[in-house]
Amino acid sequence: MLLHLSTWPETEDFLRRSTTVVVPIGSNEQHGPTGLLGTDWLCPEIIAHEAQKNADILVAPTFNIGMAQHHLDFPGTIALRPSTFMAAIGDWTRSLAHHGFTKIFFLNGHGGNVATIEAAFSELYADASFAGRSAGFACKLTNWWDLKGVFRLAQQQFPVGHGSHATPSEIAVTQWAYPDHVKAANYAPQIAPSGPIREAKDFRSRYADGRMGSDPGLASPEKGGELVKLAAAGLVEAVRAFEAPGA
Ligand SMILES: [Zn+2]
Repeated sequence: MLLHLSTWPETEDFLRRSTTVVVPIGSNEQHGPTGLLGTDWLCPEIIAHEAQKNADILVAPTFNIGMAQHHLDFPGTIALRPSTFMAAIGDWTRSLAHHGFTKIFFLNGHGGNVATIEAAFSELYADASFAGRSAGFACKLTNWWDLKGVFRLAQQQFPVGHGSHATPSEIAVTQWAYPDHVKAANYAPQIAPSGPIREAKDFRSRYADGRMGSDPGLASPEKGGELVKLAAAGLVEAVRAFEAPGA
């Protein structure tokens, strides 16, 4: 069930069956010369939307802007600073908790988001702790590539040239979902360099076309479909485990 295509009475009905909600979360940022700007929010959204076709889970609208300051020298990137991101995650969570959701499952598509999302959870719990009350909800963060079996499959599909940004696995997922938007380029070098992440000027000088350690030319819609199928099943399993009492 997709929240944005549901009504409030349908949402109220769902709350009688479950108080767990999945929030895809990512970033809108450059993904090399052929990766879609939305890749990091599209991947968790594609997987969550696929998962809800076969299971009674509720998926909230995608939180599609995140920690992307280092990509700002590439056009199309939109970034939140950490304090803004944390404040926004806090209000998303408080809104959902206000309706009675008690398990908030963030399915993440951007490694750069992890530290700040976890810090946002700590802020939410601290509010409750200092006030001497129960938070009334639990938050969980899972990266889509950490769902059961997904990272292993990506390693099998791309034993060389996977890299860490504009990876063939994430680009394959978007190719499967949006086959009319598959792009091509001559990569030089074929596998991009790797290194540290600092501010935007430093990033663009180190990684001329925006990739890090990857060869996106290895991606295909077929490989993306295999990843989505496995990740969607893994998401349902992870959600069921999280909504179990005491989890
Ligand atoms: Zn990415």
